[in-house]
Amino acid sequence: MFLKERYESEELKVLKALNTRMVLSEKEKQYYLNLQKGFEGEVMFDGYLQQITMQSYILNDLLLEQNHSHFQIDSLMIIQRLSYLFEVKNFEGEYYFEGDTFKTINGNEVKNPLLQLDRNVSLLRQFFNSSGIKIPIEPYLVFVNPEFTLYHAPLNRKIILPTNLNRFIHQLNNQQTTLNHQHVRLSEKLLASHITKSPFSKVPHFEYSQLRKGVFCQKCGTGMVEYHSHILTCPKCGKPVNTKSALVQSIEDYQVLYPSEKLSTNTIYEWTGDLFPKRTIRQTLKENLIVSGYGQWSYYE
Ligand SMILES: [Zn+2]
Repeated sequence: MFLKERYESEELKVLKALNTRMVLSEKEKQYYLNLQKGFEGEVMFDGYLQQITMQSYILNDLLLEQNHSHFQIDSLMIIQRLSYLFEVKNFEGEYYFEGDTFKTINGNEVKNPLLQLDRNVSLLRQFFNSSGIKIPIEPYLVFVNPEFTLYHAPLNRKIILPTNLNRFIHQLNNQQTTLNHQHVRLSEKLLASHITKSPFSKVPHFEYSQLRKGVFCQKCGTGMVEYHSHILTCPKCGKPVNTKSALVQSIEDYQVLYPSEKLSTNTIYEWTGDLFPKRTIRQTLKENLIVSGYGQWSYYE
């Protein structure tokens, strides 16, 4: 049972919105693509966790702090006698472990995910201890991408490869577990300690004037030029998109980049490069304001 769902982080949303509206440096772009890929891998793993039928509490994407150190947990699954900590990686290609290092087949060293996992386990254990929680932690490094190959996997470590995933879930489901109020208390403690504002955010500086105004193809990033009632078609790749969802997406992007700014028809008219008639924008803002009630689109005039 999922007690905490996974969403795109604010950082990822901001970078995604900026990527189509300004030129990110090579480094920023790579960072953005890595975040996006990591998120997709975690969502892929959630698909496997959804097949869990035994009694469990699953908390996704937890950001906790212990002794002034922040740590991020991709998925934590609590069962009767222990908790599984999953570190999920969406790597593609061939990799190998060599001692304490982790390398691509070409010999390029990349950050060793096992060290990251060890750090997380240590901090989570301290977090449990300081909260008076006595439950063992079983850590797993999970590679989800079917295009991933690993050589020289350390045999003493719990590593799940894409080809083992189904079997792993099946084995979990064979366990008999029941949860009681202590597990509820533990989950509540974790949820209450979750930090919503990430200190790791690496969003580049941006000015309104430097951002491209318009509506952009989600596939190739090209600006839409014509508006024909219900469908917008990308002039470059030909991908069609529903006009209303393109407008809603643009409004959401504006909200992500300027969360404290007031939304108005004129603001969005300018933001979308004068592509939509003002009455369409007004109507869309109104509809979504009604739909979301006191939700995110709190200002409208
Ligand atoms: Zn396109």
